[in-house]
Amino acid sequence: MKGLLIVISGPSGAGKGTICKALLEENDFWISVSATTRQPRAGEVDGANYYFLTKEEFKKRIDYDDFLEYAEVYGNYYGTPKSNALKAIENGRDVILEIDIQGALKVKESYPEGVFIFILPPSMEELKNRIINRASETPESLMTRFKSAYKEINYVSKYNYAVVNDTVEEAVKKIHSIIVAERCRVDRVKDKILDSKEGIIHEQLYD
Ligand code: 5GP
Repeated sequence: MKGLLIVISGPSGAGKGTICKALLEENDFWISVSATTRQPRAGEVDGANYYFLTKEEFKKRIDYDDFLEYAEVYGNYYGTPKSNALKAIENGRDVILEIDIQGALKVKESYPEGVFIFILPPSMEELKNRIINRASETPESLMTRFKSAYKEINYVSKYNYAVVNDTVEEAVKKIHSIIVAERCRVDRVKDKILDSKEGIIHEQLYD
């Protein structure tokens, strides 16, 4: 069976990065490393956190149609390299993209069978605290991120699932449940089941 394309997005400060890290610690997901034109933050490693590119390099890759999606976020470009993610899905791996909302909506157009999960903060107050506690941001970028986070929450209705990030542990459990449910969806498994005279291919659904 093909793997799932799981798109995790939501406003800045909702905790999607922490959730994805926790998901990866326990599971054999394939996480896509994005390309970006923003400067690396302290401790970030090229090829692990992001592929750090110049604007020219990034634009060349757009011209070569190398991205599944790309978007301009807070003045920098971010994009999901296409070929490795699609290959991993073909090979049965579940692929996670942690991307912004514009990017998620673009993926939804080209890959509607993806699983689109919106991460919500427990409250706007908590969202503000989380953004403020990011030492890497300047006061201006804090304000920009908070304002756009406020607007972005309206996009939740475009997603398949909404997960409130009260605690990372609970949010991760909910995402696991979503993935198990998605693997059981009739539109994903009906061909296999109908092809199999033996009946349901149990291990493929619950592995
Ligand atoms: P940061 O600069 O804090 O690492 O990321 C800023 C925003 O860009 C976050 O919302 C993050 O999810 C988003 N982002 C990271 N990679 C990608 C990508 O490949 N595509 C898109 N559209 N957004 C991305």
